[in-house]
Amino acid sequence: MKILISDAFDPSLPEKLAAFGEVTDDKDRLAEVDVVLVRSKTKCRKDYIDQATNLRLIIRGGVGLDNIDVEYARSKGVQVFNTAEASAVAVAELAFALMISVPTRLVEGHLGMTRKEWLKKQLKRTELMGKTLGLFGAGNIGTELARRAIAFGMRVIAYDPFLKSHEAVDLVSMETLLAESDYMSLHVPLTDETRGMINAETIGRMKEGVVIVNTARAGCVNEVDLKAALESGAVRAYATDVFVSDPPPDDCLLYQAPNVIMTPHLGASSKENMLRIGDVVVRILEDFAHQTA
Ligand code: NAD
Repeated sequence: MKILISDAFDPSLPEKLAAFGEVTDDKDRLAEVDVVLVRSKTKCRKDYIDQATNLRLIIRGGVGLDNIDVEYARSKGVQVFNTAEASAVAVAELAFALMISVPTRLVEGHLGMTRKEWLKKQLKRTELMGKTLGLFGAGNIGTELARRAIAFGMRVIAYDPFLKSHEAVDLVSMETLLAESDYMSLHVPLTDETRGMINAETIGRMKEGVVIVNTARAGCVNEVDLKAALESGAVRAYATDVFVSDPPPDDCLLYQAPNVIMTPHLGASSKENMLRIGDVVVRILEDFAHQTA
């Protein structure tokens, strides 16, 4: 079996995969390989899949499959797997960090200190305790975030029409989620339904001064509408790990809007998660090797 590691994985992975056959990171060998390992950088669209004439398996180390044309791959007999649960803790910890950075004034306080400015009087703080966190999507990551928020004394509600019940949070209507959340955190996949779902109309139904956290996908947010809402104060802050491209273009509206906190798509990239992803990749390859033996 020939395996192409196309994106960044833990450095220990090639050695772990050696038992399955030849491992390469040479993208020019795409036409030869049976298996491709990607994260989010490599886009496996029709052209890519057509070039990979021997391809039988794509493994996405991570969750979102929006960089892969899954339907087309399957129509060509190429199996597609992700490492669905591995990243939940890593992304939830970052979502929590983004969320708590707003009421603690962590970023402004730190930046002030780097300029030798003592902003003790200027930076008014609030607390997470007693506030309502609304989750858009309560799957693996949303659930891990909910557990952490509950431990901090938050009330957690979620809108997820695909779930009948949830172990940790109250499932509510979209209307209730928008109307009652002090903090809103996005944990949905990017689909036709979720694209642009945070827009002037939905923001208009949210609490004045809501804080929005996005570790899901940038496409879920209409950035023109968000920028206007940040400028008017309708949205108090937008804390995000995800952008229209990695990195965002120089004219990205988020660089121009006030009260935006950004991290460079770090959600899944903890050391521990990269090791967990590697372990799941090995398990998928064991099953695949077994199937094709
Ligand atoms: P998941 O599949 O476990 O959960 C997603 C949840 O969203 C599901 O419960 C589903 O029912 C719900 N959902 C789908 N469509 C919805 C809609 N229209 N309205 C409300 N709920 C809807 O996925 P997850 O592991 O929790 O990951 C969520 C997203 O986070 C991924 O799709 C990915 O885009 C993103 N992600 C980002 C990073 C990062 O580095 N920032 C890392 C991993 C995942």
